[in-house]
Amino acid sequence: MTKAPSLFISHGSPMLALEDGPAHRFLATLGHKFAKPAGIVVVSAHHEEDDATVTASPRPETIHDFGGFPRALFEMTYPAPGSPALAEEVRAALAAHGLESRSDPARGLDHGAWVPLSLLYPAADIPVVSLSMSPHRDPAYHFALGEALRPLRDRNILILGSGSITHNLRELARPTPDAPVAPWASDFTEWVYSNVEAGRIDELLHYRDRAPGSTRAHPTDEHFLPFFVALGAATPGEAVERLHHSFTYGALGMDVYAFGALPA
Ligand code: ZN
Repeated sequence: MTKAPSLFISHGSPMLALEDGPAHRFLATLGHKFAKPAGIVVVSAHHEEDDATVTASPRPETIHDFGGFPRALFEMTYPAPGSPALAEEVRAALAAHGLESRSDPARGLDHGAWVPLSLLYPAADIPVVSLSMSPHRDPAYHFALGEALRPLRDRNILILGSGSITHNLRELARPTPDAPVAPWASDFTEWVYSNVEAGRIDELLHYRDRAPGSTRAHPTDEHFLPFFVALGAATPGEAVERLHHSFTYGALGMDVYAFGALPA
């Protein structure tokens, strides 16, 4: 059985789905870089719940949870099937790790899930379930969610954290996608990269106190917390790669990480 990687993807602006750029082009190739997964568990920064919640709809709707974008974006759909069976499997994996959860039979896929997936798997033929993140819980809790999901990778289930390596919408150099990169944004992403490379999990878990510019890079935690799910789904010592590194609007980091080596 193929072992699926655990990925962290920075999803950027919803326009990532339609607008050309380095991250868009990279993500359009990423799905070809490893074996097609049997299923996907996505943890999006836009699926916020107090307690872990797993979507269980067999046909999750496409949620257009944004405003002020072109009509073409509102007309996009991502009709991937859901999987009540995979949702149950996720809940069982969480329970085995001492983590409570509930299922949500109604919720669909928000743009943090479907925008990157529309580039990775445009055929929308792989079952997707969404596991919520909890904005008021800490990185260690989200790391534990990832640890609980880790065994699913052995069944070729892709774990996908979708957030942003930096996320401060007030600091974006709109409307200039290729604006010069702000030093604080660059410092933060390189701090993450060096600690990931060195396997310093504890340092990363305490990023709020220890990373340079953490308040500016992430005024709130929610777009970084999915990173810890992806990190937790990696086995200690497993190969890790920063597959993509770029910025849009001078401050929105678009880094993509793979935990678990991708075939060359
Ligand atoms: Zn977002």
